[in-house]
Amino acid sequence: MKIRYFDHAATTKVKKQVVDKMFPYFVEAYGNPSSLYTLGRTAKVGIEQARKQVADLINCDKNEIYFTSGGTESDNTALKGIMYLNENRGKHVITTKIEHHAILNTCKTLEENGFQVTYLNVDKEGRIRIEELVNAITKDTVLISIMFANNEIGTIEPIEKIGKITKEKGIMFHTDAVQACGNVKIDVKEMNIDMLSLSGHKIGAPKGIGALYVNQQIAFKNLIDGGHQERDKRAGTENVPGMVGLGEACKIAKEDMELHIHKLKELRDFYFSQIQQQIPDIKINGSMEYRLPGNSNISFKGINGSELLMKLDEKGICASAGSACSSGSSMPSHVLTAIGLTNEFADGTLRVTFGEENTKEDVQYLVETLTNIVKEIRANS
Ligand SMILES: *Cc1c(COP(=O)(O)O)cnc(C)c1O
Repeated sequence: MKIRYFDHAATTKVKKQVVDKMFPYFVEAYGNPSSLYTLGRTAKVGIEQARKQVADLINCDKNEIYFTSGGTESDNTALKGIMYLNENRGKHVITTKIEHHAILNTCKTLEENGFQVTYLNVDKEGRIRIEELVNAITKDTVLISIMFANNEIGTIEPIEKIGKITKEKGIMFHTDAVQACGNVKIDVKEMNIDMLSLSGHKIGAPKGIGALYVNQQIAFKNLIDGGHQERDKRAGTENVPGMVGLGEACKIAKEDMELHIHKLKELRDFYFSQIQQQIPDIKINGSMEYRLPGNSNISFKGINGSELLMKLDEKGICASAGSACSSGSSMPSHVLTAIGLTNEFADGTLRVTFGEENTKEDVQYLVETLTNIVKEIRANS
C-alpha cells in the first residue's frame, strides 16, 4: 500500500540533496575537525560553511550559531544557560502554557531549582495577550521564552511585538522556532530575538542535529563540559555530516521559502475547504490569520482520536492526534486545554501537517478516506 505522509510537524524525510551533501563527510572528509592535517581541516571547513548557511536563514552572524543535538538541547541550553548564569540578577522566567515539552519540562526543572516561572495563557486561537505578558514582568524577570509557532495548532505568536518589549525592558528573549524555521520568514535582528532554537529533522535534515542562535552580546553557561568544540559552549566531537546536512537544509529552505509556503498553503486550504464541505460537527483549531502554512488541526465531535488514527493507518495515512509526545494518552493535550477546547471536541482532534512531497491527489485521498471513517465511527457510536 502506498504510504501518504501528513505528519511533517513530527518529522520530515531527509531531502535527497541533503543526503548527497552529507555523504562525503562520512567516507572521505571523515577527519576529526580538531585535527590539524588536511583531512581534519576539510571537515572543519564543512562545519563552518554549514554554520554560515544556518545563520543566513535567520539573518545572524555565523559566530552566533552553536550546533546542538536538536531542538530539545537548544531549548535546554537557552533556558538553563541563561538562568544559571544570571542567578544574582533575577530568578524569574516568563513562558507560555502551550510550549513544547522541551521548554515546559526545562521550566519544571528550573522551578525545582528555586527559579520562578510564569506560564502565560493564550486566547482561543492560541495567541498570547501582550497585555498579560507586560503585566507578568517583574524586576526579577531575566528571560522570556515564547515559541515562534506552535507545533500542534500552528499558531504564530506576535514575535515582533514581544521583541520590542524585551528590548525596551532589557530582558532576554528566546524563541523556540523549531516549527517556524523554513516555514516563516525569520529575521532575528529585525525581530529583536536574542536566542532561537531550531532543529534539523523538521526541515529535511536528519534527526539529532539542531542549532541555537545566541546574540553575540549575550553570555550563557554551557551545559556539556569537555573539549573546546563550538567555542567552548558545546563540548564533544562534532556531528560533522549532521551539521553539513543542517546547513544544506537551511540553504534550500531560504532559496525555496516563498514557493514552499505557497504550495503548503494551497494544499492546506484545499483540505480545510473540502473537510468543511464533507464533514459536519467539526472545529478548526488555531488561527486562520497567524498560522503555519502546512498546519491543519481539526476536532471531530464525538470521535475517538486514537481510533481515528488507527483506521487512517490501515489506509496508509500518517497523521497525528495532537502532538506526537502526548499520543497514547487519552487526556487532551495541554495545548488544546489551553485554547479552551471541551473534551467532546478535543478527544477527536486530528493534526494533518503538509510537506513538499504531498500532492493534491494525496489530499483528495485523505479527505475521502477521512470522510468515510468519521461517518463509520459516528454511525457505530
Ligand atoms: C520537534 C520540536 C522540538 C524538539 O526538537 P528535537 O530536535 O526533536 O529535539 C522542540 N520544539 C518544537 C516546537 C518542536 O516542534
